[in-house]
Amino acid sequence: MEKVKLSNGVEMPILGYGVYQVTPEECERCVSDAISVGYRLIDTAQAYFNEEQVGNAIRKSDVPREDLFITTKIWISNAGEECAAASIDESLRKLQTDYVDLLLIHQPFGDYYGTYRAMEKACRTGKARAIGVSNFYPDRFIDLAEHVEIKPMVNQVETHVFNQQIKAQETMEKYGTHIMSWGPFAEGKNNLFTNPVLERIGSEHGKSTAQVALRYLIQRGVIVIPKSVHIERMRQNMEVFDFSLIENEMAAIAALDGTKSLFFSHYDPEFVDFLLHYRLN
Ligand code: NAP
Repeated sequence: MEKVKLSNGVEMPILGYGVYQVTPEECERCVSDAISVGYRLIDTAQAYFNEEQVGNAIRKSDVPREDLFITTKIWISNAGEECAAASIDESLRKLQTDYVDLLLIHQPFGDYYGTYRAMEKACRTGKARAIGVSNFYPDRFIDLAEHVEIKPMVNQVETHVFNQQIKAQETMEKYGTHIMSWGPFAEGKNNLFTNPVLERIGSEHGKSTAQVALRYLIQRGVIVIPKSVHIERMRQNMEVFDFSLIENEMAAIAALDGTKSLFFSHYDPEFVDFLLHYRLN
């Protein structure tokens, strides 16, 4: 598995498995399947309500803990230094581990500066090997990165062939921050899985549209965490290291960029209101 080196030297797999919208009933089986087919990076969050099931799968797995790379995210309702610190301990308890490999602020709302200070402390005390953010648009990202002691090592943002985050990635790179894609298939929106450009390029390489979509991001240095509850798709989504896209294929996919979210906007007051009222209990 290819890895990226984060700014503090920690190595992170460039491809992993995400468990958003994987139900608590299915999650342990899914993570066990993912580990069994070779995934080592698992991406969860307090707001996915499945940290405990991820923890069960980790505990039962034969793979040593140090070979796994576990990411979780602190939700807005746990924002602020004290509350975030307590929530980190709660996440570790649910994940049944002494440390996470990467800890992120899930959304840039609430007292996220306080949250970040708790995360810096977690990083210094060994509860997190690396820290970063998620869903930070360039304006808030720059502001945070300029005012904290430990620069965010990762920013996990919506990134797929229809919203490629080319400029945002350039901004992140100035701060030594890696871009991590959520929704690498845009959750199938815009008919991604039957897109003619991806189909044509896939047929040249004997690969599926899903594999081409992931390969494109990986060749740009983007960390990807595709989700599937089906073991054969989990396997398919990992088989992206035995081919390369050539320049004109990369250019054809670059031309699909609509530079806009297919999901939401932080500038939409109704969406912000929804986020602020989304509670964990
Ligand atoms: P995604 O990975 O873009 O798409 C998942 C969808 O694609 C599912 O419907 C899945 O169906 C289908 N699929 C997967 N592999 C396929 C294949 N090879 N062929 C055809 N269909 C396939 O969406 P996502 O789950 O939203 O994003 C991935 C991860 O990013 C999440 O699980 C989560 O860890 C993270 N995320 C983070 C945030 C954030 O705010 N930080 C937001 C969203 C997501 P089946 O499951 O039925 O196979």
